[in-house]
Formats: sequence, structure tokens, C-alpha cells
Amino acid sequence: MILPGRAALLLALLLSLPSVGATRIVNRRIERNQILARALRDAGLDGPAADRALAALEGVFDVRKSRDGDQLRLVLRDGELDYFDYRQGAVDEWQVRREGDRLVASKRAVEVEKTLARVQLEVGSSLYEAALAAGEDPTLALALADVFAWDIDFYLDVRRGDRVGCLVEKYVSKGRLLHYGEVLAADYQGETVGHRRVFRYQLPDGDWSYFQEDGTSTRKAFLKSPLKFAHVTSGFGNRFHPVLQYLAAHQGVDYAAAVGTPVWAVADGVVTVAGDTSAGGNTLCLRHHNGLETCYLHLSSFGAGVRVGVHVTQKQVIALSGNTGRTTGPHLHYALKRGGVFVNPLNQKFPRAEPVPPKQLADFREKLRPMAAQLDAASVATRARARPLVPPAVLSLP
Ligand SMILES: [Zn+2]
Repeated sequence: MILPGRAALLLALLLSLPSVGATRIVNRRIERNQILARALRDAGLDGPAADRALAALEGVFDVRKSRDGDQLRLVLRDGELDYFDYRQGAVDEWQVRREGDRLVASKRAVEVEKTLARVQLEVGSSLYEAALAAGEDPTLALALADVFAWDIDFYLDVRRGDRVGCLVEKYVSKGRLLHYGEVLAADYQGETVGHRRVFRYQLPDGDWSYFQEDGTSTRKAFLKSPLKFAHVTSGFGNRFHPVLQYLAAHQGVDYAAAVGTPVWAVADGVVTVAGDTSAGGNTLCLRHHNGLETCYLHLSSFGAGVRVGVHVTQKQVIALSGNTGRTTGPHLHYALKRGGVFVNPLNQKFPRAEPVPPKQLADFREKLRPMAAQLDAASVATRARARPLVPPAVLSLP
């Protein structure tokens, strides 16, 4: 059902698309054993365009020194590389920008200060837009979606008026945000998801993980959504499908999603199907522990190295959604089988990972107390300010 208000919003969005649609921002990390050229191609550049970007870097950055974890940020305008930012560690940064027909590279000299910020977002139409509206870099939305990925489906569960607060490290230079560090604590208050609050904590074995206030882990065997939260400018289709139902007859859930939306493995598993299955189009299936299987249909492409027999890990991007096979529009068909029988993925319960060990609980509580107090303070401040929401139609990308 489309309400008049929603229809007006839809119209406003459609009218605003030409200004926004031409620009695409792609954020990536270099993966293990991946070379920069490959990462650039994965980010959407064709071979010659990637070569031109690498040629521009010559003499400014030695590409052999790129390593996994390095971050790339590309701005594509009408499919052409407009700007490319390469970051290694917290301080070292190079940029390639277009000057007329040429790409010019330079090293950015930065004096960096690490600060801790309280950020409060209020959702208008999406978490991404909420970050922009609050004057933050939209990558913060992606980081927050990642923190809550086991409990919140950011394509389905987010509602207008939901509030998200967080304590996040910011790397700042001369008052300007360079990038975010870790999210130390985050708080989500939503109409459909209720109140969720998580804290980052280091376990005795040295691993960092997120836990809820009572010490239970945020991690589960399965993610809440098969779609990794990302910004895809070619359409916000999913927003206009607020109610998704599991249809027993068609044995899965359809997520309306713009072509190219990243699909991630909801759990660790082994690829059992990776190919064209006619009606299902490009289809990927994974076998998981405990007799569970997941399938992802109508994909536009498979992730690098994803083929039958390969192990994939939870949160790994295994494919991009598409519109292949028998479809009436771009969407991801997602199916879950338990013991060979299709079940509704939307109402499955999955066990959580290990909680904070009992011996550490006192330490955990002591460390989260000041963070919880700061989250509370931030949320009170926002309510007092009660800023009007910025409608999505007036937003533009940086
Ligand atoms: Zn379907």
C-alpha cells in the first residue's frame, strides 16, 4: 500500500535522482593477497581506467607497498574516475584527482589527531542519509550497520524516527575529519528493532568483539540480512518494499535491491552452487553447519574467487545482487534450508557466540559504565535540540 505521503516522498526522490545518480562512491579495503590493480577493478574500474590510475601514482606511491587493510575511496562520475583516495594506516594518504583529461596524484601531508566523538543520528529515510544529515561522513553509517549486522536488517528494519547514537574514534586534521576509527559503543532505538546497545571489549585472548550490556555477544552464527548495507545510487528500491513476506510457495524472501548491492555470506560455509540456473539466474548456494543451507538468486555477478568448493566466511561479499533469470525487477531472492527443507529466514533464531567470560564480567562492566553514560548524555542532548529532519531530496553527495 502506498500512502499519499510516501508517494510524495517517492516523487521527490525520483525528481532528485539525476543530480545524485551520476556520482558513485566506492569504499574498499585491500584484501589479503590482493594487488591494488585488482582492488581498483573490483571497485568498478575497467582495465584501462585502473591502469591510468596506477600510472598516475607512479613516482608518488610505490604500489608494491600496498598491503591488505589499506583503504580505497573512489568517486566515480558518470562511470569515470573523478577522485581516488588511498590510505595506509592512520596517517599516510595519497590522492589521485582529475585535472581536465589527466589524473594527477599527490601525497597528502597530514597531522592527525585522534579524538573520541559522540554522534547522534536520527533516521529520515535511511541510515546513510541520516549520517549525511548529521554532518557526518556516510561511511559512519556503514560502520554502524556492520556493528549491528547480527540483529538489525538495515534494508528492512529501519524506520523513520529511529535513533542511533555512538561513540566513535575520529581521526581529525585541522578540525577536518579524515576518517573514523573504531566504534566503541553504539545504541539503536527503533520502532521495529527495539532498544539495542553494544560495547566493544577486548577479551583476554586479545580479540576485540562487541557485547551487549549484560555481557552476551552480539555475534551469531547467521547475520540478520543477506544484503550488506551499502549505498547504491542507482535506486533506493528496497525502501519502498517495507513489508517483505516469506512466501512458502516460492520458498524464499525477495529483497528489492538495486543491481550491484553487495550480497554477503550470512554465515561461514562452503559454496555448493555457483552458476546460472535458468529461472533463478545466477545462483549461489552455501552449505553451513548443522544442516543449514542458504541460496542467493538473480545475482549480477559472483565475488572474486567464489566458486564451488570454496570456503567463505561470514560477512564476506560473495556476490552482487542483480536481475538475472526470471524476474520482474532487480531483487535478491534469498532462501534458507534446514535439513533439506525450506524455512522462513525472517523468523529463525540463531545462537549467539560466547559471552564475556564470567571472570571478565566485573572488568567489562567497569569499562562500559563511562561509555554508557556518554551514550545517555548524547541521546538526551539530541532530544532537547529536536532538529527538523532534512528531506532526502535536498541532499547531495560530497
Ligand atoms: Zn523470489
